[in-house]
Amino acid sequence: MLNKLILVLNCGSSSVKFSIFNFYDEQRRLFGFAEFFSFKKVYIQWSLNNVIKSRILSSVSSIDLVLDYIIFNVLLKELRLLGEVFAVGHRIVHGGLSFIKSEIINDNVVKGIEESIPFAPLHNPAHLIGISKIMKQFPSLVKRNVAVFDTSFYQNIPEEAYLYPLPYYFYKNYGIRRYGAHGLSHYYVFQESAKFLNKSCKNLNIITCHLGNGSSISAISNGCCVDTSMGLTPLEGLVMGTRCGDIDPSIIFYLYEKFNISLENIKKILTEQSGLLGLNNGVSYDCRDIEKNYYDVSSGAHRAINVFCYRLAKYIGAYSILMDNSLDAVIFTGGIGENSVLIRELTLRRLKLLNFKLDHKRNLSIHSGKSGFITTCDSSISAIVIPTCEELVIVRDVVSLLG
Ligand code: ADP
Repeated sequence: MLNKLILVLNCGSSSVKFSIFNFYDEQRRLFGFAEFFSFKKVYIQWSLNNVIKSRILSSVSSIDLVLDYIIFNVLLKELRLLGEVFAVGHRIVHGGLSFIKSEIINDNVVKGIEESIPFAPLHNPAHLIGISKIMKQFPSLVKRNVAVFDTSFYQNIPEEAYLYPLPYYFYKNYGIRRYGAHGLSHYYVFQESAKFLNKSCKNLNIITCHLGNGSSISAISNGCCVDTSMGLTPLEGLVMGTRCGDIDPSIIFYLYEKFNISLENIKKILTEQSGLLGLNNGVSYDCRDIEKNYYDVSSGAHRAINVFCYRLAKYIGAYSILMDNSLDAVIFTGGIGENSVLIRELTLRRLKLLNFKLDHKRNLSIHSGKSGFITTCDSSISAIVIPTCEELVIVRDVVSLLG
């Protein structure tokens, strides 16, 4: 018997990720992605039943065409074997103030996503293209498309955490507040960590670190998210691959007034040329490359990793005091959190006051999709690596809304 399936679509600024899950048992049947940093060359890869297939496309010059390729040449072909798509879940990076939970997509939801474009100018337009393509190609599913928002996880953080100390009407009239990002990832590892710690979610006091090209950290006290590092947009907070994270806002005026750098260029510098890449003299933003040179203490790589770990440790320290009860654990996830033995060690080493007892053997052995404790059994605060799976959060919300 053919299974009912859920398609999960994550259209980003430079990639599209797509997955097909069984509706009933949450098993992932197909996973694929397309990468198009510049449209000169689009790389598409997907795997089905442990068989990996890939294509390089050179004549595809927009996300519209990438999606057409994925729909006609991958999904419709592979679905002949897999079964029938029953519903589609769309990951939406920014829902602004309009959405506190996942929604079945209708005209109002589309309007709300459009209105939030200024807060996620690279992501929300791509999401809208994805929604419209799917609605057109799968007309029978028009009422079974669900939008799942990264920002929903942060809708209940306290006012003192989401307000900026700016004129209050900026928030009231313009919606300027902390919205957070990576909510699906933080929520997924939060739920998973309950199993590791053998506690119910509502009693968990943890700090979740999503460390990838984009990085963010969230504080969860007694099962409620109480603060997060990303702000109005995903530029605030930790050091990232190419984004600066927290800086003194006066740097912008200084660059503009003293060096005549245009606002457009400053934006480019802060989003595309800063973070690990900037500190590493523009050599690479890829943590794997940077780590190779870490032990050369005069290198940009050494500097970049030290600033990254220092900032991360500073946030963990600050968030640890937000816990209602003592901190249970720090969770590492995302490409760097799941794989970088070095960054996990250098960060925990800086947190002497919290007294993590790192288990070096465990830390060394956990990477490439493995999960587990990297602290010793008698460490009063644990550190755990949990590979993220944002798609499963989407699948569960689709099932709960349409099931
Ligand atoms: P994105 O934010 O684009 O989803 P990812 O979560 O995929 O990013 O993380 C990408 C980052 O993870 C890159 O900096 C990459 O170098 C890093 N990474 C992946 N594997 C490893 C590894 N084995 N060791 C260190 N860093 C790694």
